[in-house]
Amino acid sequence: MRTSDPVTDLLAFIDASPTPWHAVAESVARLAAAGYVALDEAEPWALAPGARVYVVRGGSTLVALELGSVPPSEGGFRLVGAHTDSPNLRVKPRAEAGAQGVRQIAVEPYGGVLLHTWLDRDLSVAGRVVVRRGERLEPALVRIARPICRVASLAIHLNRAVNDEGLKLNAQSHLAPHLALEGAGEATLLSLVAEAVGVDPSAIYGHDLCLFDVVPSARGGAHDELVFAPRLDNLASCHAGLSALLGATGPVRATRGVALYDHEEVGSRSRQGADSPVLGDVLERVAHALDPRADALARALARSVSISADMAHAVHPNWADRHEPGHLPRLGGGPVIKTNANQRYATDGETAARFAAWCEAAGVVPQHFVTRSDLACGSTIGPISAGRLGLATVDVGNPMLSMHSCREMAGAADVAPMIAVMRAFFEERGA
Ligand code: ZN
Repeated sequence: MRTSDPVTDLLAFIDASPTPWHAVAESVARLAAAGYVALDEAEPWALAPGARVYVVRGGSTLVALELGSVPPSEGGFRLVGAHTDSPNLRVKPRAEAGAQGVRQIAVEPYGGVLLHTWLDRDLSVAGRVVVRRGERLEPALVRIARPICRVASLAIHLNRAVNDEGLKLNAQSHLAPHLALEGAGEATLLSLVAEAVGVDPSAIYGHDLCLFDVVPSARGGAHDELVFAPRLDNLASCHAGLSALLGATGPVRATRGVALYDHEEVGSRSRQGADSPVLGDVLERVAHALDPRADALARALARSVSISADMAHAVHPNWADRHEPGHLPRLGGGPVIKTNANQRYATDGETAARFAAWCEAAGVVPQHFVTRSDLACGSTIGPISAGRLGLATVDVGNPMLSMHSCREMAGAADVAPMIAVMRAFFEERGA
């Protein structure tokens, strides 16, 4: 349910989205409620100025556009990019594992997981299965609401050095969760999944299943100034972009929208990641639908600008020395502009200035982040989509802690300002 309070709405969005497929389904439900209609990539598209459309590729990547009052070749594109995936544990094709009278689930890490944060949590399974119905193979979302499994840590009595030497986890041998005790019953993971989908286990021909923490997101802190939630990286940015698009008033000349990609956490190279043709394919077809000239896309891109939104590292009071001392983003301190001279972020002086101007229009003061010069800088979709399409791009994100933990943390006061700045970006006239 959407509510008027953006923090409550963010928590609902996150809890509705345990996997990238659910994040896209939740986003599509919100878009459809606002009159957006699906475009099928396999069919011809008939488009008119002002149309509200979306494309889903692979079930986990979404591009949604509200066409401007003039063709993109005259008004350009204004896009917010973000990613729908988060590091987690994924179920292997043959899900059954076990030893010592315990039935376990065979899992492997997806992306840069902070492995120890998955221990001793009440976990369940969600994702997508492909089901045989008669002659057809059809995808179906699945989510088991109750805690069905848990990755147990090793007692300190059996690992006395753990606090001094750190916990060393082997991804192959230490992460299989307990699912069942032998003798307690016949349920297997796939039988539970099949039951949740309402089919016979033999009808499941393929699956993409993720583990997730069943504990709901929450506000926290003495004054409710914090957000405790999984997948803030990067569902908080998906939510901000989508909320800004759905809240933006118009009409404007620019064609505006969001591109929410899967597979950022594993390098974006896939059929539907930021390093795929997905966004270029959609923009080209939209540009040409409204302007048949051969240079329609090139002219549109030359007028375009994008915000690549991915979460930023707030300064951690216990490890403040890991930050560049002149650039210390704080939780609750507002949107962060991320810059790296070596183009691990796409920001340059021009796009940073434009973001600062949108912040000014929204009454928001931005923060700045650069990685310490003696640490390797992370990266995100900004340089990838900028490199593929030649889009002027600024990399930004809201500050957070515990990035890539099973349970992350951010500032409640940062949620509304990012949405307001993105709205100012979408509503700016004269592009
Ligand atoms: Zn991210």
